[in-house]
Amino acid sequence: MRIALAFFLSALSLPSFALNVFASEPEWAALAQELGGDKVSAISATTAFQDPHHIEARPSLIARIRNADLVVCSGSELEVGWLPLLLQQSGNGRVQPGSPGYLEASQYVVKLEVPRILDRSMGDVHPGGNPHIQTDPRNIARVAVVLAERLAQLDAGNAAVYRSRAESFGKRWKEAIARWEQQGARLKGMPLVEHHKGFTYLINWLGLREVGNLEPKPGIPPTTSHLAELVEQMKQAPAKMIVYSSYDDPKAAQFLSQRTGIPSVMLPFTVGGSDRAKDLFGYFDDLLARLQAPPQ
Ligand SMILES: [Zn+2]
Repeated sequence: MRIALAFFLSALSLPSFALNVFASEPEWAALAQELGGDKVSAISATTAFQDPHHIEARPSLIARIRNADLVVCSGSELEVGWLPLLLQQSGNGRVQPGSPGYLEASQYVVKLEVPRILDRSMGDVHPGGNPHIQTDPRNIARVAVVLAERLAQLDAGNAAVYRSRAESFGKRWKEAIARWEQQGARLKGMPLVEHHKGFTYLINWLGLREVGNLEPKPGIPPTTSHLAELVEQMKQAPAKMIVYSSYDDPKAAQFLSQRTGIPSVMLPFTVGGSDRAKDLFGYFDDLLARLQAPPQ
């Protein structure tokens, strides 16, 4: 009877993956899945419709981390409000910061907007530099190399699989970047207003020009007086578009758009943020499409 039950339970738990990956954001879950294929089961704690700065540390997420072999986060204090708590509550020693089962993606890219003077009293939610590195595909390429090696380290038996998948992904990604850069070339210098400083890396990559933010400071909601200033500023020097992310409240962007006649455009913040952004390739395809011909 016992044997039968054990067999039944093991059959229930099929398919068994070599590695369980807990990603803080959808882009890292998507990348782990690209690199791990059927050896990896990756889940994301957040969706493209949630502000990754602030989510609730739900018990279901603690349970997920308890079973994780690898935690991948953006880092740079993006998840400071919830991930440390989840890690602590999970009691999973394999995925604590400093262990091979913990990977902070932003440590492997050149960070932008790193403040010279740290001043949390101003309410800035980017004290460690801008953490939203996923909007530049070159950053994804850098993290892919590190992530693939980490998968190989944690699951040596399948190391060859991870390395070969990484090579294939790297090749396809490089070709895609060339295509996106070609599409983006005509956008160079385009002035835009952004809700949050969520697309700093995209703006830097394509050479766009951010001329204002709806938030007076990253993480501080738009105020009436700040929006009034932007209306005046747009009369003097109009931007080409007002962008907000899939998780931002669109009201402030719509307000400024109505007052100025400048189109407001939703950009998916990450994988899953629009119908087309089904995976990492679709994500950038959609970003480039929306920047070139904003949906009316
Ligand atoms: Zn932010």
